[in-house]
Amino acid sequence: MKKVVFLDRDGVINVDVNDYTWEWGKFIFTPQLFNHLKLLVNKGFHFIIITNQGGISKKIYTKNDVFVLHNLMQKQFEFNGIPLLDIYFCPHHSSIEKCLCRKPESLLLEKAVAKYNISLKHSYFIGDNERDMLAAKGAGVEGIKINTNEGIERAVRLILQQSAV
Ligand SMILES: [Mg+2]
Ligand SMILES: [Zn+2]
Repeated sequence: MKKVVFLDRDGVINVDVNDYTWEWGKFIFTPQLFNHLKLLVNKGFHFIIITNQGGISKKIYTKNDVFVLHNLMQKQFEFNGIPLLDIYFCPHHSSIEKCLCRKPESLLLEKAVAKYNISLKHSYFIGDNERDMLAAKGAGVEGIKINTNEGIERAVRLILQQSAV
């Protein structure tokens, strides 16, 4: 079974500019992201991104914009030697349409857990929003909340401590 660190996107992987991000030119990785992820790679963790992209539902950008952005993002992961198993996004927004996949719902996490044979016990969700923590809880994964844009260093240290026990 796989050990996975689930990651929220905006505010965790890239700097949340308090607005929707869909352009590569405005996509800035949080401090030392890849160095911190590498420590987890060394411990056998894989990564999956789970992100709400309600801007699609609001017609601020399209699904295709998100695919293009994620493609470029994924290339940077590869370039830095970080294996990214998958990226799941919810294209809906609760102000426009109801769905079961938008965090705090845990459906996207549950899909990933089923598809990739993930050990819940050995997996984590790093997020910067209470919604992320609720989704983690719903799926049965331990949530670690960080401050928006602070970077994942503290969360990674916590995971390394716990998985050393
Ligand atoms: Mg976020
Ligand atoms: Zn949805």
